[in-house]
Amino acid sequence: MSGAVYVNGRICTKEEATVSVYDHGFLYGDGVFEGIRVYDGRIFNLEEHLARLYESARHILLEVPLTPEAFKDAIIETVRASGLRDAYIRPVVSRGPGDLGLDPRKCQTATVVVIVDAIRLYPQEAYEKGLRMITATVRRPAPDALNGRIKSLNYLNNILARIEANQAGADEALMLSPEGYVCECSADNVFVVTGGALWTPATHLGLLRGITRDAVLSLAREHGLAAEERVFTLHDLYTASECFLTGTGAEVAPVVEVDGRRIGDGRPGPITHRLNAAFRDLARQVGTPVFAVKDARG
Ligand code: PMP
Repeated sequence: MSGAVYVNGRICTKEEATVSVYDHGFLYGDGVFEGIRVYDGRIFNLEEHLARLYESARHILLEVPLTPEAFKDAIIETVRASGLRDAYIRPVVSRGPGDLGLDPRKCQTATVVVIVDAIRLYPQEAYEKGLRMITATVRRPAPDALNGRIKSLNYLNNILARIEANQAGADEALMLSPEGYVCECSADNVFVVTGGALWTPATHLGLLRGITRDAVLSLAREHGLAAEERVFTLHDLYTASECFLTGTGAEVAPVVEVDGRRIGDGRPGPITHRLNAAFRDLARQVGTPVFAVKDARG
């Protein structure tokens, strides 16, 4: 089997996997999810992704019907069943089937899905030449409207930004906070390099606290670079010497143009290259082994 899906305790193929149309995940986007990578048979930062999944669920008062340990086992089993050594894992927990009203009390049991499939990455060219980005007109919601820390199934705000990027022929859309500060991208976090130091927007601006963002902040500090979470504007981005995105899919991806302004000299910068290489090394060295039992048996 190439790719596998876990649905409420059962592992099946992509074609066999189904959930109810009455599921409030489908009707209202009521649920949470994660995106995790498998690098050569090792799941990268699984504990961190699971912790974020349970925190997102806690915020929306969604009871995950599995213990974190059982969830971890389900993920490992599904990756094993997929037969893939390099893969993308998509755990989803939705409110479950209910009636047509939005009241979550009508949903008896949450639906748990784990999709394991091939990964879709930016082409190698993107890392060599860098990405082009535009600022979307649509902003991230204020944290008291929908807190960006929740990785919820409500991605319409991000999708509207993605559509703007598509229409402009850009690779990604930058999104501002409600007050107009640089916040994050439609599916990635953003960093700038300025005066040799790294800046990334602070979480209170309403962004998703990316697992890759945290890993890159630690890596940067290990490499002796100053790395700060702070509040800054598009002016700081346009005048930065480097800009890059971080995300499970993107890893560390250089940005060379924003809103028609060339960033730095218009080529991926040395600090971005260094962090990209350091992140790729890290991702291949650490992680939860999936095939350990099979490998041990020889
Ligand atoms: N921001 C948003 C809106 C995201 O959806 C994601 C995940 N693709 C990220 C940032 C990056 O988070 P992570 O590093 O955990 O993948």
